[in-house]
Amino acid sequence: MEIKVRACVHNADNITRNTTLKLNSSLLKDKNKIWDCSDTIAYPPFINSHDHLISNWYPKAALNHPYPNVNVWVEEMKSSDSFLERNKVWINDGKFDLTHGTAPLIISLGMYKNLFSGCAVVQDHIPKQKKEYYNNNPINIIKEYTQCHSLSMGNWWGGKTAEEEYRNTEGKMPFIIHIGEGIDEVAKKCFPRMEELDLLQPNTLIIHGIVLTRDQIKKCAESGTSICWCPESNLFLIGKTLDIDSCLEFGVNVVLGTDSTMSGSRNILYEIKFAKKNFPHIPMKEIFRMISTNARKALFLQDSYGVLANETSNLLLLRMKDLNPFENILNTLMDDIELFVHQGIPVYGNLKFLTDFDIDRNQYHFFNVHGHKKFVKGHPELINTKIDSILGYHKDFPFFPF
Ligand SMILES: [Zn+2]
Repeated sequence: MEIKVRACVHNADNITRNTTLKLNSSLLKDKNKIWDCSDTIAYPPFINSHDHLISNWYPKAALNHPYPNVNVWVEEMKSSDSFLERNKVWINDGKFDLTHGTAPLIISLGMYKNLFSGCAVVQDHIPKQKKEYYNNNPINIIKEYTQCHSLSMGNWWGGKTAEEEYRNTEGKMPFIIHIGEGIDEVAKKCFPRMEELDLLQPNTLIIHGIVLTRDQIKKCAESGTSICWCPESNLFLIGKTLDIDSCLEFGVNVVLGTDSTMSGSRNILYEIKFAKKNFPHIPMKEIFRMISTNARKALFLQDSYGVLANETSNLLLLRMKDLNPFENILNTLMDDIELFVHQGIPVYGNLKFLTDFDIDRNQYHFFNVHGHKKFVKGHPELINTKIDSILGYHKDFPFFPF
């Protein structure tokens, strides 16, 4: 299958125009067919470097934000309407085994939040789950990582100490930890403690880093430590975000994350819009790096992610609304995703493309959005129906395009 596109973003520094890509998929009926998609731009599917899939309930869950540090929010959110409504569907028994009961329903919500915004990869910050949690998803929920919740709260939700978790990476996978999510003394103590524990490492991914000073950011750059920026969640919960300008000045490997919808944005497309609106001087090209090659590096992903080769089995085709491919991402909404293929499998897009794949239509859901006929792999509408029947009323999730 060859696809003619208006432009192809191979990576942030390599764009070809009026070009043809080869889509590799064992499901294609006619491998020699040519699709004319010259009103689209091709990208590598995006990467969301920070989410908590189990917390993708809506709306945001905070009563008295902004808070001096996240510990205060974690306690206070438990009496928010959003948290109490989610409790009707799934109650946290403290074991954090998310493969049982109704937890998979909520996890699927979070997974589809990412899928419908063009993310082929999401980092779900949660204690390591059983194997089945990570298998058979239409997108990649990363399974090779170790983690600690934070140094201010420890690994309260499960897992070993930060030092043990780091040791278990053997340098071969990311170690992920919230650091400095606040502006007070509690938050300020995290980074020095991290240094004492020798956790400032090239395979460490710091989440948030709101309170980090310029010097501390410089140290991250020098040690190769990555930082995940979640501007919407930070400005909502804490009223302040990472010193992103110092990060870019010192060359920190910065990635972008949505966090969950209980504190952050609806999905990565909204996170990008929020980042650009609040930090208009940051070039979209830099933001694109954060959801592509920077994320690939921070999360130790395979070469097939974060870049687009001429022959590919991972592809994101977006409607061309702006000739500049980076500005085009900024203008993209969920229904502007014309085709999203992950590992050769069409997972979301315009129905017209699906007829060229040899697939089992029972494994897909079909719907209309703004006059466009769409398909999606799996049955997110049934997840919504099940949740509705538990609640006894209809619940809208703004990250579903239907
Ligand atoms: Zn988080």
